[in-house]
Amino acid sequence: NKELLNIENLAIHYITDDGTVKAVNGINIKLNKGETLGLVGETGAGKTTTALGIMRLVPNPPGEIMSGVIEFEGRDLLKISEEEMRKIRGNKISMIFQDPMTSLNPVMTVGEQIAEVIEIHQNVSKQEAMEKAGEMLELVGIPKARLNDYPHQFSGGMKQRVIIAIALACNPQLLIADEPTTALDVTIQAQVLDLMNNLKNEFNTAMILITHDLGVVAEVCDKVAIMYAGEIVETASLEQLFENPKHPYTVGLFGSIPKLDEEVDRLKPIKGLMPDPTNLPSGCKFHPRCPYAKDICTKKEPKVTELENGHKVKCLIYEGLVDVKEVK
Ligand code: SF4
Repeated sequence: NKELLNIENLAIHYITDDGTVKAVNGINIKLNKGETLGLVGETGAGKTTTALGIMRLVPNPPGEIMSGVIEFEGRDLLKISEEEMRKIRGNKISMIFQDPMTSLNPVMTVGEQIAEVIEIHQNVSKQEAMEKAGEMLELVGIPKARLNDYPHQFSGGMKQRVIIAIALACNPQLLIADEPTTALDVTIQAQVLDLMNNLKNEFNTAMILITHDLGVVAEVCDKVAIMYAGEIVETASLEQLFENPKHPYTVGLFGSIPKLDEEVDRLKPIKGLMPDPTNLPSGCKFHPRCPYAKDICTKKEPKVTELENGHKVKCLIYEGLVDVKEVK
């Protein structure tokens, strides 16, 4: 059985005095061992909340998992005890958070920080943990002689490598990386992506890479899920998505990728803003921004239509209910 993760109908809301923020609204994700999924969308699409849900780290209150199943290695993570979950977190599933620069402890050496994770999850002595920490550091391309250095002695890119070393120290089955390269400059970004590719090939670690950058997706991912307003609107293999994007939102995202030879100010963002998550539009949640939207789109929620080989899209065009010839 190659299936590692199976998320069904997951919904996560934040219940606040100002209303209910519907961050994630019934998503399905399947991931096999060793596979890399890109979870793509704009800020506020629900990507990070999805990741926190898988880790069972959604702050409660105000966050609440309203429905769903998160099966990992055949067990529903939403049904196990907090103690069992603690054994999985940082061990079988680890996560690299959005702001790597602040997630290292400034008063501990990087060696101590990597070794600490190994000690917590594996039954080894301090010395063995430190040896393994040295190996991890070498693995991410930093000489082990630097085990005793402090984070401030490292550059941004190297700090990110240290974070990856910590996340991989226990050979996780699943690594969730939330915008792991956003804070880095382009050259270092490429190095970190290379590194992640190598690690994936070497350890067969499955990854969920959260990003708003389709360029990053093209470098690392096998398949892609496009999120909009807490829903997955399109799921496809990397090839399917790049050669034949189907959902009007995905098509719009491709329209806004800057070409290498173009000035940045020519970047065309999709017009309009992400809807207010406390007051989502009726029908298709993308209708206020969709160039193909028809009356029916404001009333009827699209179903997920499977086009071919796992290429799925949530849009009324593919249910034959909206004609694409007339663009609004
Ligand atoms: Fe656009 Fe209608 Fe499709 Fe939604 S259902 S993406 S509004 S065409």
